[in-house]
Amino acid sequence: MGEFELIKRYFSGLDHGPNTLIGLGDDAAVLNIPPDHTLVVSVDTSVVGTHFLESTFAEAVAYRSIASAASDLAAMGAKPLGMTLAITLPEVDEWWLRTFSEGLCRACADFQCPLIGGDTTRGPLTISITVHGLLPEGRALTRDGAKPGDDIYVSGTLGNAAGGLKVELNECEGDDFELNERLHDAWLSPTPRLELGQTLLPFATSCIDISDGLLADLGHIIKASQVGAKLNLADIPLSAELVTVFGQDAALAMALKGGEDYELCFTLPEGTAAPQGCRRIGKITDGTGIETKDGPLTFEGWTHF
Ligand code: ADP
Ligand code: MG
Repeated sequence: MGEFELIKRYFSGLDHGPNTLIGLGDDAAVLNIPPDHTLVVSVDTSVVGTHFLESTFAEAVAYRSIASAASDLAAMGAKPLGMTLAITLPEVDEWWLRTFSEGLCRACADFQCPLIGGDTTRGPLTISITVHGLLPEGRALTRDGAKPGDDIYVSGTLGNAAGGLKVELNECEGDDFELNERLHDAWLSPTPRLELGQTLLPFATSCIDISDGLLADLGHIIKASQVGAKLNLADIPLSAELVTVFGQDAALAMALKGGEDYELCFTLPEGTAAPQGCRRIGKITDGTGIETKDGPLTFEGWTHF
């Protein structure tokens, strides 16, 4: 199978969208930017051995690569417009490609983000997704707007992806297959909070997606905003399955330090009602660094573990 047949068979047919003027197949895609909107662009690369294993289910390799890129759009409050896929393949493995293509298809549908083009090369397995999104002109959810007194919120529950990674790596000692698989799914198939980001756009003072762990990512907000943060650790949302499989202390450590949950961490002016499914976890202070009522926390993580 030649390169063009491969592209046609596994990467085409997903380019339709309200703003696709020319999709996949020409030298470049052409997109419409509606009046009074601006373009948002972000790229994310996943490398075998670093971001996933050679044995990771190809459907999930595609899905989570796109989810992590789309999550950056969510964190800016943007709506997906389209994405490109630069893929480097060691060989043409038709079963792998067919499965990968199923993940592309599911992600395009779930995130309403057409695959408008890409590039296909030979080499060590690498997937690079460039996402394009739209924002109303003059608006963006940035990291630098948090003010002392603001409330700090997170969406969903944290740490599930870190638990799921242990399942993927065969390092999970929990023996409840169903609970393990629920955590595994959180790692394999994360949900970028695209709707939440767009909902927060008019009133959040800052926002970031949690890709590197709460402490690291909240750390980016407080550095960019030149403020401090005080967390109430008892309010950090943990899933029942994470606590059951790993215990309370390890679950909290995973929530603080584990990455790849792709939930949003954001700040709201004091007293502003947060959207459903979000939990208040602390307050922005006029200090520096992240602390709890029991003392400071380092960006690298919770030193007790
Ligand atoms: P060119 O040589 O002009 O750069 P290519 O032969 O690389 O074009 O690609 C042909 C068409 O197929 C282009 O529209 C390109 O965007 C698309 N394409 C190539 N690889 C991929 C891919 N991995 N995913 C999606 N579209 C792809
Ligand atoms: Mg060309």
